[in-house]
Amino acid sequence: MANAMLESNVPGEGVYEKLMSQDKKRVCYFFDSDIGNFHYGPGHPMKPTRIRMCHSLVMNYGLYKKMEIFRAKPATRREMTQFHTDDYIEFLHRINPENANNYAREQQKYNVGDDSPIFDGLFEYCSISAGGSMEGAARLSRDKCDIAVNWAGGLHHAKKAEASGFCYVNDIVLGILELLRYHERVLYIDIDVHHGDGVEEAFYTTDRVMTVSFHKYGEFFPGTGELRDIGIGKGKKYAVNVPLRDGITDASYKDIFESVVNRAVEWYRPTAIVLQCGADSLAGDKLGCFNLSLQGHADCVEYVKKFNLPLLLLGGGGYTVRATSRAWAYETGLAAGVKLGKKIPINEYYEHYGPDYELDVRSCNMEDMNTTEYLSKIKRAVYENLRDIDAAPSVQMQNVPKMPHDDEDDKENEDMEDPDTRLHTRMTDARIQKDTELSDSEDEGMGGRRHRQNHNEAQNSVNSKRKGKATMSPTGSLSRRTKRPEAESSRDSSMGPSVPPQDSQAVPDTVALAEAPKTVSTGAVLPTSALAEDDKMDIYSQGVDAELQKVVETGLVDKIGTATEPSTEQPVAPTATPLTSSGDAVVTHPPAFASDSILPVGKLASEVGEETPEPVNHVGQ
Ligand SMILES: [Zn+2]
Repeated sequence: MANAMLESNVPGEGVYEKLMSQDKKRVCYFFDSDIGNFHYGPGHPMKPTRIRMCHSLVMNYGLYKKMEIFRAKPATRREMTQFHTDDYIEFLHRINPENANNYAREQQKYNVGDDSPIFDGLFEYCSISAGGSMEGAARLSRDKCDIAVNWAGGLHHAKKAEASGFCYVNDIVLGILELLRYHERVLYIDIDVHHGDGVEEAFYTTDRVMTVSFHKYGEFFPGTGELRDIGIGKGKKYAVNVPLRDGITDASYKDIFESVVNRAVEWYRPTAIVLQCGADSLAGDKLGCFNLSLQGHADCVEYVKKFNLPLLLLGGGGYTVRATSRAWAYETGLAAGVKLGKKIPINEYYEHYGPDYELDVRSCNMEDMNTTEYLSKIKRAVYENLRDIDAAPSVQMQNVPKMPHDDEDDKENEDMEDPDTRLHTRMTDARIQKDTELSDSEDEGMGGRRHRQNHNEAQNSVNSKRKGKATMSPTGSLSRRTKRPEAESSRDSSMGPSVPPQDSQAVPDTVALAEAPKTVSTGAVLPTSALAEDDKMDIYSQGVDAELQKVVETGLVDKIGTATEPSTEQPVAPTATPLTSSGDAVVTHPPAFASDSILPVGKLASEVGEETPEPVNHVGQ
């Protein structure tokens, strides 16, 4: 940045500085203006409007000139079930505030209703979030861009069959599954103040994905992410946890982040990176407890970008809305190769950026509980795990079964396509935002892109046994969480309609799907669940023993997963709660977060809901 030069052909002289030429990347940015219309409910700290506020900054800073802007097709139910169970997704699709009373049992089963409430348009909200991440991943895989950005994504707590921590559908897992179709090894990095438990759990037993989470640990939601949790089975050492204490500063965070990430990249040699940019690690976040400035947070993005690998940038937490929108706008600029100027341009949310109207989030004077000794200890422990020489697993190379989108031009034929043949297609509407479209409200009615959802949903859902334990909710209340996957499996061996005949020209020579059957046996999610039935069985038939193939077909993966799991490596739950005879946790459902009494210490109750600048337009109104 020392060599940065001023860029002048943008609204307002010096609105941003161009970074060095080698920083120039092709950026795809995903935004759906509908996202700002959803509302978790009065007083809920999660405010989707922050994404619209961020977008308004992005547009008014002139970043539309530096990247392609898309509205992704919302993810379909079928696509969501590449990770989640059919039953759970069906429930999310069906539930609404009006019929919620009829689903009391399901609400408890799926942990929906308290911290993760039922609100109007819930399923559509999940679809938009997941659609952007899947589409971003698909465009990265197809070399349509170098960096894909989806601030509506990053919902890292969602589990296979359970909502958690304001997250319902895990767009990150779905995006990574898309990347795994083409990439041998995907590195996931999480800088949200909370542990990235949902993503870690999904890939806990596979070496195809390495997860690295930096988070507050100790009396904090979700209660997982200990230093010693490093993965199990084939996934051992491919999960890294960096548990931190309150008040970490820019300098300390930078040191440990760059050390650990650099080591992880050297050790694992990923071919793509997913960075969850949860902004609740910023100083002053309503639910967070770190002390990062905007620059400190953004330095992580800048650092990861320098590896020059396909990069998926996602949102996540971030509960002080005006700080979150600032950080993500600034980080969008970094992705696009510019450094946004301090002066916030006039935009429709301008009044929320007072009194300074500057693009900054400053550190405060809170005490840093992370001593040098503590951080050194953590670094040593991580290095100890990552010292083997041959750590980058290779997978047997095979052609990727072609999907309809693999050789199509993005901007053509979308509407002529049979939706049922697009089961895994993440085509966008390819609508590049025009220079004049500075207001996201003008996005409305661009239409014709509400997705058709008449698929016959896949059957054969796998009801894996799950146990739970009690931990803190994001807002400090008790809540249920799921234990490590004992026999988590990729579900569904029936993925609907088959794909047209393959054109070998259209697929890369080397791809990484052959490991899939093994990951079934150890319980990790599979990239192959994205495939049409015929293609998938082709893959399985190569080098998979008959018993396993039968398991895959029948969905009886619990048994296999349990049998192959080395029991000694099961992580020890730090605060186990009694289990009922059925194996279910004794769950104490807390009052909804809205209760002022459970706000984090140090937060004024009056702060909650203080930032609701958006005109709340409930879906359906
Ligand atoms: Zn968070």
